[in-house]
Amino acid sequence: MLYFIGAGAGDPELLTIKGKRIIDSSDVIIYTGSLVNKDLFNDIKKSAELINSAYLNLDEVLKIIFESNEKGLSIARVHTGDPSMYGAIREQMVALDMAGIEYEVIPGVSSVFAGAAALKREFTLPGITQTLILTRMAGRTPVPESESIENLAKIQASMAIFLSIASIDELTKKLMTSYSEDTPAAVVYKASWEDQKIIISTLKNIAKEVKEADINKTALVYVGRFLADEFELSKLYDKNFSHEFREAKNAWR
Ligand code: SAH
Repeated sequence: MLYFIGAGAGDPELLTIKGKRIIDSSDVIIYTGSLVNKDLFNDIKKSAELINSAYLNLDEVLKIIFESNEKGLSIARVHTGDPSMYGAIREQMVALDMAGIEYEVIPGVSSVFAGAAALKREFTLPGITQTLILTRMAGRTPVPESESIENLAKIQASMAIFLSIASIDELTKKLMTSYSEDTPAAVVYKASWEDQKIIISTLKNIAKEVKEADINKTALVYVGRFLADEFELSKLYDKNFSHEFREAKNAWR
């Protein structure tokens, strides 16, 4: 049995209770070394084998999984944030299916949400946008043309952009083909870690500020009017709006 576990964005307390229980009882723990906080492993079994997958290719990871499974050991495969975003878990699942090894996925707090928490912002503001786009810019790994930053920017939704901070100049230029240059933009570096940094600016100025702060990895870029302060109040808590759990105060009028 193998569990894919979302480690959360960095702060070890963002790991789910279920994820922690499984990590603490696993025989073999394989974690993505670059971004997973080692404090997650403070309470693992003494006999547990802890393996950093940063220097391993897919075949080497699979070899460890297959051999451990053969010995009847329980395996935790720990990925940063939530494994469903840029986790490269699907290719592992295909191999596990072929080998007849069962697995489950335990979600985690993605850095995209830890970053929003750090910014104290809500992506879906009434009258502004009801949509959040999670994406990355094409780099060494391509992105389908229909999902180019220019195309997505046309929608004018809230956007959170992974894996692109090193190309912030190019990214902001592409965004400004549709968003106005004074659109609010933010960068959160190492959300929820002790050395977290936040930059709040505009699309026009943020690239310069990111470089001045020397941020070139482990950061998310946020764009959209959700970062600003203008919006309508939500219907959910509007006293004149009834829904499943609450009758409107003056519904009889
Ligand atoms: N599955 C992960 C994302 C892995 S891809 C998740 O859900 O968060 C790695 C990218 O995620 C980084 O390039 C960066 O854009 C972002 N990232 C991961 N951890 C981060 C953090 N603590 N703060 C800001 N961005 C982070």
